[in-house]
Amino acid sequence: MIPASAVDCSRSVLTTACRSTAGWVIISLSLMLAPLAFAENLSIKEVASGVYVHQGVHEDLDDGYHGDISNIGFIIGSKGVAVIDTGGSYQLGSELRQAIAAVTKLPVLYVINTHIHPDHIFGNAAFLNDKAAFIGHSKLGNAMTLRQEAYMRQGNNLLKQAFAGSEIVKPSITVDTSQVIDLGNRTLVLTAYPSAHTNTDLTVFDEQTGTLWTGDLLFIDRTPSIDGDIKGWLATINKLKQLPGVNIAIPGHGPATTSFITALDNEYRYLDLLLNDVRASIKKGGTMEQAMQSAAGQERDKWLLFNSVNRRNVNLIYPVLEWE
Ligand SMILES: [Zn+2]
Repeated sequence: MIPASAVDCSRSVLTTACRSTAGWVIISLSLMLAPLAFAENLSIKEVASGVYVHQGVHEDLDDGYHGDISNIGFIIGSKGVAVIDTGGSYQLGSELRQAIAAVTKLPVLYVINTHIHPDHIFGNAAFLNDKAAFIGHSKLGNAMTLRQEAYMRQGNNLLKQAFAGSEIVKPSITVDTSQVIDLGNRTLVLTAYPSAHTNTDLTVFDEQTGTLWTGDLLFIDRTPSIDGDIKGWLATINKLKQLPGVNIAIPGHGPATTSFITALDNEYRYLDLLLNDVRASIKKGGTMEQAMQSAAGQERDKWLLFNSVNRRNVNLIYPVLEWE
């Protein structure tokens, strides 16, 4: 059986597409950046100089999931390109490759995966012909081995033909703590974290523009889903808040933001309340089902997909917290 956590990132709702669009408009106006560049099939926005993002749609797994739900994109240096996350299918990865080709003829040197979840990694195969180096957290390769069968089955079941060609491509370079890569007159700082959203979380910081790609360490609009360690995630949020020079953050899901600290504070508020409410429920002798219904209820109206994701979060953390 596929663990519920395996599909957490793949859930959202169609009704929020307009909110996302509004978010992009605000960002575009506030940053006074270049106009949209379009590939044949994929919309791409330059959110900072040489930093391009495709924002996945908000779409529920049960409502036509097609693998294009997370933020993916690329950064261009003078020598070549780094891709950051590749989407939920080979098809989407191929569209991203075409979008890159429409912007630059420079080679793709690196493909970076921010973590294990399927909506971020299954376009990797579209970059095999580039002979790019694949980079991930030091635990990513093992996580791919453990989840490969379940993720392949899930992809085939949900995407059917649209999943054709999708395969697991493991990192050829792994990051234990941090690593710098050079795109030519442009360095990216990659940082690996202890277990938080998952046990494979990696951020990418572009020093030139102060752009931080957070992967799913940051959710905006959609309920943060836990597939790692809630206490570790809270600690990581505090670390992220200390990072100097972040001008714009690109979350794993939701719009890019110049209000990085506020976005982290929102996420922290939900996770901290969830942690405290589940602890209180356990202390009172409440059941997990009761905790699922009530924990973090004050946050219900602030997040998309709250009911389903929050239940899964309680399901994951309750048994752990019982042993505190
Ligand atoms: Zn994720």
